[in-house]
Amino acid sequence: MGNYVLRCVECGSTISGPMNFYCKCDALVRSIYSRKKLRTRDLPGLWKFYDWLPVRRNSEYDGKPITYKSEHLAKGVGLDDLYISFNGYDPDIGANLKTCTFKELEAAVEIEHAMESNAPRLAVASAGNTARAFAHLASKMNFPVVLIIPNRCLPDVCITESVTPAIKTLVVKDGDYSDAIAVAKKLSAFGIAYDGGARNIARRDAIGTILFDAVLLAKRMPKHYFQAVGSGTGGIAIWEAALRLRDDGRFGTALPRLHLSQNWPFAPMVKAWRARRREMLKEDVDVPDILDVIYARVLSNRYPCYGAKGGLYDALESTNGEMYGITNEEAKIAGKLFESLEGTDVVPAAAVAVASLLRASEEGKINRKDVVLLNISGGGEKRLREEVGVKEIKGIPISKNSSLEELEEAIS
Ligand SMILES: *Cc1c(COP(=O)(O)O)cnc(C)c1O
Ligand SMILES: [Zn+2]
Repeated sequence: MGNYVLRCVECGSTISGPMNFYCKCDALVRSIYSRKKLRTRDLPGLWKFYDWLPVRRNSEYDGKPITYKSEHLAKGVGLDDLYISFNGYDPDIGANLKTCTFKELEAAVEIEHAMESNAPRLAVASAGNTARAFAHLASKMNFPVVLIIPNRCLPDVCITESVTPAIKTLVVKDGDYSDAIAVAKKLSAFGIAYDGGARNIARRDAIGTILFDAVLLAKRMPKHYFQAVGSGTGGIAIWEAALRLRDDGRFGTALPRLHLSQNWPFAPMVKAWRARRREMLKEDVDVPDILDVIYARVLSNRYPCYGAKGGLYDALESTNGEMYGITNEEAKIAGKLFESLEGTDVVPAAAVAVASLLRASEEGKINRKDVVLLNISGGGEKRLREEVGVKEIKGIPISKNSSLEELEEAIS
């Protein structure tokens, strides 16, 4: 017996089988850990939260979220207790994510989980940052993956070292992120496991470490949590982590209120949540040429994990959440403000989150004395480029309509 089981949040079925995150009732599957109190272990990086990660050993990966208490941005926004979870590259504060975003934490735990599950090879669709994280880490761990990304996002996939031949990158010439997901699912015909995106418990539990790290510093649960969302993974994950901490009891029982943001005009979850709809409408997601229109391209998922039981709608409902649609202009201004006050550049999606914090403050949704956690989901790109250097990876062009024969050729 291990330290966790997987259970459907809706019908309670126990789910078994390697890399199986699906219940017949279509609700999300969640990991239930035998340990009920937060405990840190003397292990490198995020493995210090080993008890609440779905693995039976730790890898040599040593990255983790870095939480610190903000002085300058806090003053600018008028908050006494603003904590920043920095997930990127900034050696001055011990932040050593060489792919600059929290996707690296997801990749680290997911690869370990997949290896322990004896998955021969994984298919991972991405709008940039996930592919970047997997190209880097799967190379280091010599674990075979097929990455599928839209052409427009290829320049975002820059890594510090060369990829190993075990990594294949398929570039969808004529499609967006959602087309890339469709191709990833097709590859199961060749025994390549689709990683499941937000449904993959390893990904979500990896993000949970962001909240665990923050409560160790703040000594209690934050009252508000700010993050930009694309697939919804991060929002669901923080909610689930908060439920674990609530059971622990030592950090308070009120769940953090989720303040989640998208990049207007592509904001399907903002529109659905504002209308308190569990369903997203076709017109919510049909924004033409999304990847050319929005600044934060990683937020372009047309099939987020929103309406399914245990998904983002439930997370928002359970935490009395808020959603914000942030324009490109607002995000750029907020990103510059963050850099000038906190001293580090942030990626576009993190700039969207900063803008949502400014908006919430203006609208009186947060109070000076509230404990607030802002997730800087990516940053430090400038220093990484200057001090370490990065190079683009090469891709194999495919079409979103490629036949199985063509796909087989591309991945071999
Ligand atoms: C993927 C990503 C997000 C969105 O997170 P989800 O968990 O997919 O909703 C936000 N910020 C950055 C930097 C990302 O790479
Ligand atoms: Zn079920």
